[in-house]
Amino acid sequence: MHYHVILTDECNLSCRYCRGKTFEDLEPSTIDEIDLSMPSEFVPEPEDLHAFLARDPEDPVVIFYGGEPLLRQDLIRSIIEGSDPRVRYYLYTNGLLLNSLDPRIIERLTLIHVSIDGGEALTDFYRGPGTYKRIIANMKAVDKMGFRGGIIARMTVGEETDIQDAVLHLAENQVFPFHSIHWQLDANFSRDYETRKFRDWVRKRYNPGITELVGTWVSRMRDGEVKRWYPFMETTRDLLNGGTSALRCGAGYANYSIMPDGSIGPCPVMIGMKEYTCGHISYSDPRALRKIEGTDKCRTCDITKFCGGRCLYSQLLEPWPAEGDDLVCESVLHLYRTLKGVVPEVRSLIRSGKIQESELVTERFNGCEIIP
Ligand code: SF4
Ligand code: SF4
Repeated sequence: MHYHVILTDECNLSCRYCRGKTFEDLEPSTIDEIDLSMPSEFVPEPEDLHAFLARDPEDPVVIFYGGEPLLRQDLIRSIIEGSDPRVRYYLYTNGLLLNSLDPRIIERLTLIHVSIDGGEALTDFYRGPGTYKRIIANMKAVDKMGFRGGIIARMTVGEETDIQDAVLHLAENQVFPFHSIHWQLDANFSRDYETRKFRDWVRKRYNPGITELVGTWVSRMRDGEVKRWYPFMETTRDLLNGGTSALRCGAGYANYSIMPDGSIGPCPVMIGMKEYTCGHISYSDPRALRKIEGTDKCRTCDITKFCGGRCLYSQLLEPWPAEGDDLVCESVLHLYRTLKGVVPEVRSLIRSGKIQESELVTERFNGCEIIP
């Protein structure tokens, strides 16, 4: 099982699409109870977390999450030290403190998700001046420190983003090209629909940009290279093989979040939402955590086997009105049709040996939402 562990609510950046904004504007009618006593820092003893993970018969994966988890390297060290070697550790970070990573942490980390939104101007627009340069310098520093695990660039994508330019910049710049890239739409997470220009952007820029980017992805395959662009990989493999998926991020059934008080929720964004509590590390059996179901809209949707429901949080909380929600689904339908359109060529590239199907494989539930 995969577990996000929320170490702290503190962050050393203030990004435009900050997670905190999702809490400020929730209406009491939407959620019965928000636990306002939830501590802002992780309080359980590391031994309690170790004991919980030891009860998981699958090799557990811990994804350090925040706020910015590297503000609590002391906690990370105390969790890593003396833990079961079966446990794999991943990190979700904004990248600003990667140059100060303790070597004892580096040697146990196997995957780093680093937030970066594209080129310098775009990243700095969303995340603050100077952010891009610091991230790139720190990525080079991590490389020098000997980190040989995986790195995934994670973009948050909104109306300022040209998806083709942003992904190609990250993938093919000469200074620090990222081999794996994932992106998620800044959409349907908070009650901001009325203030957004989402409708025009998604129809005129994002969806056409996805068409171009899928074309670029396949053209690189013709040269024998499968770019590790997460929203295209597992999805295309499923289309090739008739595979289906429940919620692709795994929230609430394959990927849980351990909150700062040790309670367990379906997803890191659902911190303190008591009615969705799935267990607690002090007494729960990882095999018997409560499962959280999505809504009828997704269950009955024509492309549910492809999409999986996109985002449990959005389904349950409905931050956007129906019009906005439908536009997000339109983007999923566009992705589905575009990928379906290239499946015959991808299949023939595999048959001819130009690429291997195994190059489309990703680790499921590793922290990527998959459907943007
Ligand atoms: S496209 Fe929309 S309605 Fe359909 S499964 Fe995905 S999120 Fe749910
Ligand atoms: S995509 Fe999954 S992990 Fe991300 S906010 Fe939605 S439910 Fe949570």
